[in-house]
Amino acid sequence: MQYVSTRAATSAASPSSQQFSDILLGGLAPDGGLYLPTEYPQVTGAELDAWRKLSYADLAYEVLKKFATDIPDADLRALTAKTYTKEVYRNARAGEKATQITPLRVLEERADGAKLVLQALSNGPTLAFKDMAMQLLGNLFEYTLTKQDAQLNIFGATSGDTGSAAEYAMRGKKGIRVFMLSPHKKMSAFQTAQMFSLQDPNIFNIAVEGVFDDCQDMVKAVSNDLPFKAQQKIGTVNSINWARVVAQVVYYFRGYLSATTSNEQKVSFTVPSGNFGNICAGHIARMMGLPIDRLIAATNENDVLDEFFRTGVYRVRKSAETYHTSSPSMDISKASNFERFIFDLVGRDSDRTRALFHKVETQGGFDLSGKPGSDGDEFKLVAKYGFKSGKSTHKDRLDTIRDVADDFGITIDTHTADGIKVAREQLLAGETMIVLETALAAKFNETILDALGVDAERPAGFENIEDLPQKFVVMSADVAKMKAYIAANTGL
Ligand SMILES: *Cc1c(COP(=O)(O)O)cnc(C)c1O
Repeated sequence: MQYVSTRAATSAASPSSQQFSDILLGGLAPDGGLYLPTEYPQVTGAELDAWRKLSYADLAYEVLKKFATDIPDADLRALTAKTYTKEVYRNARAGEKATQITPLRVLEERADGAKLVLQALSNGPTLAFKDMAMQLLGNLFEYTLTKQDAQLNIFGATSGDTGSAAEYAMRGKKGIRVFMLSPHKKMSAFQTAQMFSLQDPNIFNIAVEGVFDDCQDMVKAVSNDLPFKAQQKIGTVNSINWARVVAQVVYYFRGYLSATTSNEQKVSFTVPSGNFGNICAGHIARMMGLPIDRLIAATNENDVLDEFFRTGVYRVRKSAETYHTSSPSMDISKASNFERFIFDLVGRDSDRTRALFHKVETQGGFDLSGKPGSDGDEFKLVAKYGFKSGKSTHKDRLDTIRDVADDFGITIDTHTADGIKVAREQLLAGETMIVLETALAAKFNETILDALGVDAERPAGFENIEDLPQKFVVMSADVAKMKAYIAANTGL
């Protein structure tokens, strides 16, 4: 399986293509595009039948095998077996079987045959769906670095979910260190405790005196210093990483196979969306031939994606127009994985993709509505790819958390609430709609308290996490100091 950049010069076609392991440790392609396979591998009905009975780890092996063709089968099987265990994904809700890794729970069956189903993706160590991919990434990185006798220093900024998922995936891994910046005293007590209580010598928590944007500016400044980056072997694990996307494809298969008994049936998915990584994996599963009917992107007040799927206009937001909401992991100004879908939508024309995203950089967006003066008319093809969207507000989240607690007796987190709100609005007669649960409520307790007047339940082992000893350094937003700190701790 070969990979190309969404912006690859078409004239040069194949020489630039690479294998899975070549792009594993990187982020953007050198031309600024995102990597995708040259074609999507297909699944047959016979494969789906056989896969219905598999454990999550075995299913992950089968799906990944189609993409990571340069990793020997036995190694890949060992990696998925080590990653998807009930010990790693143990934080299931009461009454759900941890062995299923991503169990389904039917919430509602309507008289017209419509069915609302919740797929839990948040049973991993940090109680958010990012563990589904990040845990595999940790094992893949360690495997690859050991083979190459190389090391990698992951450097990033977080306001919550991504940083903690990365740290829990990379802790104790040979050849890997993590330097994670977070805004000092700006994360919730729970999220701070999750990250800072890690005592592993390869994890470096840096609390920056400033806001999240200051942290991101520091990451940019360090990343733009190419000699430093090369010398210190700096890498990232952001959501555009291809291996993260492909690891997420697996749970669409699991959700479909668990919700159906025959391949004649179709299901739809509603996905709480920010950077379009999660739902992009759904798109890829659908392109592989998984019988997915609709893919519904649910956004919060940061509705860049909802706007596109309603109008065909993609318009990135300025920071002043980017809202801090109670579903903070979806607070985005642009959707960093969106280019992968647009590449498919414009018929895999990399010249067009490059031009459209150049326009995003210079003019803040593009318009595919087909109206006079627009950049194209491909919006009319969006339905063919199954995409729809909807949007939710703070009030909707509170109402939905209350309704779901009253109607179904479970507490959902704020991001999942955005998904349920949109799914209930869009559900059609006879449709099976799986909503992806992207975090557990305990992570966003402040809003749960507002909605329900009681604390969200915490999985066992998290009761007193705020009281554990914490390991972190406080630093001013000073790039020179940061570089000195990294160099001192990598010894490079
Ligand atoms: C990251 C995240 C999202 C958004 O996922 P994308 O892949 O960026 O679309 C939604 N909910 C939670 C809880 C998250 O951590």
